[in-house]
Amino acid sequence: IKITEGLARTREQFARGLDSLFSSHGELDDAFWEELEELFIMADLGYEPSMELVERLKERARKEKVTEASGMRALLMAEVEEIFRAPRRIAAINPPEVVLMIGVNGVGKTTTIAKLAHRARMQGKKVMIAAADTFRAAAIEQLQVWAGRVGATFHAKAPGADPASVAYEAMDRAVKEGVDVLFVDTAGRLQTKVNLMEELTKIRQVLGKKHPGAPHRSILVIDATTGQNALSQTKLFKEAAGVDELILTKLDGTAKGGVAIAVAMQHHLPITFVGLGEKLEDLRPFNGEDYARALLG
Ligand code: GDP
Repeated sequence: IKITEGLARTREQFARGLDSLFSSHGELDDAFWEELEELFIMADLGYEPSMELVERLKERARKEKVTEASGMRALLMAEVEEIFRAPRRIAAINPPEVVLMIGVNGVGKTTTIAKLAHRARMQGKKVMIAAADTFRAAAIEQLQVWAGRVGATFHAKAPGADPASVAYEAMDRAVKEGVDVLFVDTAGRLQTKVNLMEELTKIRQVLGKKHPGAPHRSILVIDATTGQNALSQTKLFKEAAGVDELILTKLDGTAKGGVAIAVAMQHHLPITFVGLGEKLEDLRPFNGEDYARALLG
């Protein structure tokens, strides 16, 4: 499915309000801005991001000398596109490329790893997946099933094993076996910030020791349906673990797709992909222009 379909429910809720505000309101007065802020809050952007977005739009309207509500749609689309223009970290990669996958249980991390591994396989790459989330036996098994399905090598140890030792062994194997991309799954239970930081720091250290420069990217997976939780999880992981990119899952069927705007605005992180379903193919590269058009166009 396309991002337009994925965002259909968010759009439905958001667009109706916007349409009537943009068409029925004349001048851009206080009442207009208040109503607009309310619509943003209702679209689950959260209170602070909604205020910030309104301030940015006021500024843009002033600069571009827009004084009528009817001119606001174009401004809003341009602003949303700009919000998604976060710089991407470009790391020089000496293969294997190592990707650290982080995020809370249930957000769709396992499925997302499978989808990314599938993409890499389709590009002809040799892929390995390491189960450094050793806490849940079922999660390890599920990852193994996905690895088999996409044709990736799988590395795991018994449940309860030291996550850093799994990462170390997998890194060793990946170098020896000439793997192109290694995805390292990490613990997803909601821990304290200190525990999370310690575990992820240790994993980073062993990866980097074995393969200088690794991990090359840390991808945080967040679930669009959780709205404001996605925002607080981003804050936690950014502080505890360092995050280079975001993948927003379950954008299909939720009315909370506006959270993408809030998270990009607050955290200045690029959203690289979105999940639009449960199947391997349901991962789309994210692009602010398509998003703005699907939501507001
Ligand atoms: P994890 O606990 O974070 O590893 O989550 P899983 O990968 O096991 O996913 C949890 C549930 O969400 C599963 O039922 C997945 O099929 C589902 N899921 C994952 N990504 C998406 C998505 O983009 N869209 C939809 N609709 N479901 C998804």
